[in-house]
Amino acid sequence: MKLSESLRTHHLTLSFEVFPPKTDVGFSSVRDAALEIASLSPLFMSVTYGAGGNGSKFTFGLCEEIEKASHVPTLAHLTCVNQTRDAIQRSLDELHTRGIHNIMALRGDIPDGDTHTGDFAHARDLIAYIKASSYDFCIGAACYPEIHPESLDRKDDIRFLKEKVDAGCDFLTTQMFFDNALLFHFLYRIREAGIQVPVFPGIMPITSAKQVERALTLSHSFMPTRFKNLVDHFGTHPAAMKQAGIAYATDQIIDLYASGIENIHVYTMNKPDVAAAICHNVSDILGASI
Ligand SMILES: Cc1cc2nc3c(=O)[nH]c(=O)nc-3n(C[C@H](O)[C@H](O)[C@H](O)COP(=O)(O)OP(=O)(O)OC[C@H]3O[C@@H](n4cnc5c(N)ncnc54)[C@H](O)[C@@H]3O)c2cc1C
Repeated sequence: MKLSESLRTHHLTLSFEVFPPKTDVGFSSVRDAALEIASLSPLFMSVTYGAGGNGSKFTFGLCEEIEKASHVPTLAHLTCVNQTRDAIQRSLDELHTRGIHNIMALRGDIPDGDTHTGDFAHARDLIAYIKASSYDFCIGAACYPEIHPESLDRKDDIRFLKEKVDAGCDFLTTQMFFDNALLFHFLYRIREAGIQVPVFPGIMPITSAKQVERALTLSHSFMPTRFKNLVDHFGTHPAAMKQAGIAYATDQIIDLYASGIENIHVYTMNKPDVAAAICHNVSDILGASI
């Protein structure tokens, strides 16, 4: 099912992101985790594409398995960094053949020490290509409440985001953030710039001290004092850190929903227990017309 047909829900919905394995060996355990997460009935599941610039041969297959086994719609990520038009066309053909209707169209990170070659300079070009193809995909794209790390200027970042949306994007998902005020400010700025598509805030439950550094390096997100205190206090106690991180993410979700945002995307890091704990924490809110 195309996600654009189910975006206005009028109640809280969660969607979940998983990442595929790097090798065949890991496939069955990732699939099992993904299916367990899908059993929580999210609005959709997204599957990342070779984060870090490497392609992924498992993304589309994992999407297909999730859709067939759980009937939850999937969103297949696709990056265009260092890709030719022919390679992208083959990916679109494969997605169509596998019955996947939704694509998260990304440029991808440029690998360290590399230069970006290929036929698509920016995600905008990939979106335009998908839109002009013979297939009718629903297209999502990424956005950055704290601006993209390569951007020097917020105005330019939003101007390029508008171009990306105008190229044919149906919705946006945000980079993780740990202070909801940053998201509200960003939404105000992009609405003012004429960007009207739905925006899914991306929430990352931080469940270990080790995860903090990696998440902040990847996202360049601001770490609020409240969050820093939590890591300082619980970081050396794994079970307490996990519980506190889930509570923090839940608090963000409840605040977003109470502020009028219905569809929230959760970066699960392939952890069914974390996704389930969040669902449990909002069980009386999920799906209710409040
Ligand atoms: C929700 C989400 C999901 C992600 N999933 C993945 C994944 O599965 N796999 C993966 O490898 N990475 C993933 N990423 C990371 C993403 O690939 C990187 O952040 C990447 O560096 C930028 O991708 P983009 O699609 O946002 O690029 P773009 O939209 O192309 O933007 C990249 C930079 O170029 C600038 N720019 C855009 N258009 C122009 C223009 N016309 N002229 C000049 N500058 C311009 C932008 O302002 C920005 O600074 C994800 C990120 C998010 C937020």
